[in-house]
Amino acid sequence: MVDLPTETDAFITELDAAVEAHMNWTRRILRCATLRSTPGEDVLDPMAHTLCHFGAWFVKNRDQFETLDAPAAQRVETVHQTMHDAIRSLCARILAGAPGRLDDLEAFERSQTELTGLLASFKTLILSSAVRSDPLTGLPLRYGIENDYTLYQKEARRNRSLLYVVLIDVDHFKPINDTFGHQVGDMVLCHLANTLKQSLRIDEPLYRYGGEEFLWLLKCKSTEEAIQSARRVLSTVGTTPVPIADDDVLRLTITMGLALAGEMEDLASVVKRADQALYEGKNSGRDRYVIAGPNLAF
Ligand code: GH3
Ligand code: MG
Ligand code: MG
Repeated sequence: MVDLPTETDAFITELDAAVEAHMNWTRRILRCATLRSTPGEDVLDPMAHTLCHFGAWFVKNRDQFETLDAPAAQRVETVHQTMHDAIRSLCARILAGAPGRLDDLEAFERSQTELTGLLASFKTLILSSAVRSDPLTGLPLRYGIENDYTLYQKEARRNRSLLYVVLIDVDHFKPINDTFGHQVGDMVLCHLANTLKQSLRIDEPLYRYGGEEFLWLLKCKSTEEAIQSARRVLSTVGTTPVPIADDDVLRLTITMGLALAGEMEDLASVVKRADQALYEGKNSGRDRYVIAGPNLAF
């Protein structure tokens, strides 16, 4: 079983509860019809779709749904309201002593099926993205790199721009664990991931590549621009100390290996060159970037 981050776990629990609650409506309408018992004042309220537990939770978490699938999030809102409108109309007529309308019953059945289907798809989306992201830093893991690399490589070819693969490795990280403990080590990695993320452009993905290694896909127009970006990241990390215990901070440095992706070069080959550059950077004193020589085969 995959260990999910707490917030993902809580999100899935809410989704499961929402599906169950909305499936339960079949039983509640049946009770209302056979016993003429009220399903509750909130259900008869014209704003019932915002008053039900799921409705209120959905509004609060709408951004997260939108990030995952914006059209489906919009559809959830519409279908959820349709379902509550149909329930209200059915129950109000029954309580007034009139038979329910077939239109309402069918709208209820259709919207219930669609809503529970949509929520199940969101559950699958959340679970699959959770296993692809690192629970510690929230960064994507290496599964998606190959795909993104191919897309960016094509984009660079089309735009006559450059794509660099950058391997980033924390300098002397082992002594941090040894001195302050693994938990502080984890916190330091989390802090560094945030610092790195903030110093990159939004469309430049950063992955947790391994233990204390990150991989950055750097898009630029020229080698000079790549150098500027690398310097900026080095300097941001150097000037953003990590707060640890009371008033104490830890200064971190990183070493980076940059390799320009050949137009047809595969990811494994560029990563290998970036790794060699990183190794050179470590051997020549750390806290620096090194650019790998071009791969003449591509
Ligand atoms: P260098 O400057 O040569 O990169 O030295 P280093 O100490 O950073 O490198 P080394 O490869 O010797 O040690 C990396 C350490 O990172 C060892 C490993 O226990 C630790 N590490 C890897 N992943 C994690 C993690 O998720 N959390 C913590 N706390 N430590 C980790
Ligand atoms: Mg390492
Ligand atoms: Mg290291």
